[in-house]
Amino acid sequence: MSKLKPCPFCGKKPFYIEWVACVNPHCQLVNTYFVPETWNTRPIEDKLQARLDAVDTAAWDKLKAELEQMRNENRSQRDVIEHLEDTMAEDVRQVNELGKAQTAKGKNDGKS
Ligand SMILES: [Zn+2]
Repeated sequence: MSKLKPCPFCGKKPFYIEWVACVNPHCQLVNTYFVPETWNTRPIEDKLQARLDAVDTAAWDKLKAELEQMRNENRSQRDVIEHLEDTMAEDVRQVNELGKAQTAKGKNDGKS
């Protein structure tokens, strides 16, 4: 006999001697006996588990790939922004130097 699944109603480990039953006195399956194959037959659970497994492999992998792609795009956008910031900082530095040179030239022109 393969391993018995827990009770589908209360989750307790079942009792088994020829027949399977739930041992929980508060469970609706207490005093109801099953052959092990019937006890372990859970078509809805199996279907849901199959869907979960499919999600885990296909959809989850797709989401992880999309996330990685977004991270890479974000990284390259960040590189572009940093390049633009560096360029702008250099432009500002050059404008400031030109401004200082103009001011100094104006002062010198005024003296002569
Ligand atoms: Zn039970």
